[in-house]
Amino acid sequence: MKKRVTKIGVLTSGGDAPGMNAAVRAVVRTGIYHGMEVFGIMRGYTGMVENDIFKMESRSVANIIQRGGTILKTSRCKDFFTPEGRKRAYENLKTHGINGLVIIGGDGSFRGAQTFSNEYDIPCVGLPGTIDKDIAGTDFTIGFDTAVNTAVEAIDKIRDTADAHDRLFIIEVMGRDAGYIALHSGISTGAENILIPERKTDIEEIIKQLAEKERRHKLVNLIVVAEGDEFGGADYVAKIIKERLPIQEVRVCILGHIQRGGSPSCFDRLIASRMGYSAVECLLEGRFNVFVGMVNNRMHYTPLNEAVKKKQRISEEWMKIVKILAS
Ligand code: ADP
Repeated sequence: MKKRVTKIGVLTSGGDAPGMNAAVRAVVRTGIYHGMEVFGIMRGYTGMVENDIFKMESRSVANIIQRGGTILKTSRCKDFFTPEGRKRAYENLKTHGINGLVIIGGDGSFRGAQTFSNEYDIPCVGLPGTIDKDIAGTDFTIGFDTAVNTAVEAIDKIRDTADAHDRLFIIEVMGRDAGYIALHSGISTGAENILIPERKTDIEEIIKQLAEKERRHKLVNLIVVAEGDEFGGADYVAKIIKERLPIQEVRVCILGHIQRGGSPSCFDRLIASRMGYSAVECLLEGRFNVFVGMVNNRMHYTPLNEAVKKKQRISEEWMKIVKILAS
C-alpha cells in the first residue's frame, strides 16, 4: 500500500521557460482542491537545500498565468549533486512534513529528482518545462511554443531588412543540445538552411548553393543556426562563408535570451495547466516517480529513470521538408 501524499512541494528548476508560472498555479490550485497543503520551494533545488520553503494558498498564484519567468525563481544547484546536499534537502522537507514533490524543469532537473527519489522515500513527479523540447516521452514541453513564436517574430523582421538590402543573414537561436527551436522557427520563416546539433552540416553544399545564388543575383538568404550546432553558432558559420564568398554581404543576428522571456502563448498556458493538474492527480493516485507529458493530445506518463536516458530524435523527414521547401 503506497503512502498517501498530503503535503506537496513545488519547485521550478534549471533553465526557465515561459509557462512555468501557469504550471505552478495549476499544481497549487489542484492540490488545494484535493485538500492537500502546498509549499513553494524557491530557486529550484537550492531552496530545498537551504530551507527556503513557504506555504502557498490559492491566492499566492493569482494573476500569474500570463507572466513569463517563474515566481518561484530557478537556479542550478551544485549542492544537490552531492549526497550531503540531498540529505539536507530531505531533512528540510521533513521539517515541513512534505511527502510529495512536483519538479518543473528540464532533463537535468529530472535527473536530480530521479537520484533523490532513489535515496529517499519522497515521491516525485516531473513536468517538462524547457524551451528546448529535448525530452523524449512528450510531444511538447512547457515554453517551447512561446520561444519558437518569439524566434519567428524576430526572424520575420530580419527577413524584411535582408530583402531590402539583398543580404545574407545568419540567425542564431537557442538550443545547445537540441535543434527544435531552429527547426521549427526555420521552417516557419522559410529559411534556406537550418543547422542543428543533431545533424552533420554539409557546409560545402551550402557554399555551393550560395555561390549559385550570387551568380543569379539572388542574394536574400536566411540561415538559421542552433547555438550548439557543430560550428558552435552563427559567428563561426559567418566567418567560413565570408572567407569563401568575399563579395557576399553577411550579417549575423544572435537572438539570445529574448527567447526565454515574455508572456506564455495560449498553447503553453494550456499544456502547463493540464500537466500541472495531472501531476497532482499522479501523486494522489500513487503514480510516483514519473514525468507527465503529452502524446497525441493525451496525458502520457514516463518513469523518470527512462526519461533521463532518452532524447527526442529528429526524423529524416523533417530534414527532407527543409530541403524541398527551401529549394
Ligand atoms: P535543466 O533541468 O534545465 O536541464 P540542469 O541540467 O542545469 O537544468 O539541472 C538543474 C539542476 O538539477 C542542477 O543544477 C542540479 O541541482 C540538479 N541535477 C541535475 N543532474 C543531477 C544529478 N545527476 N544528480 C543530482 N542533481 C542533479
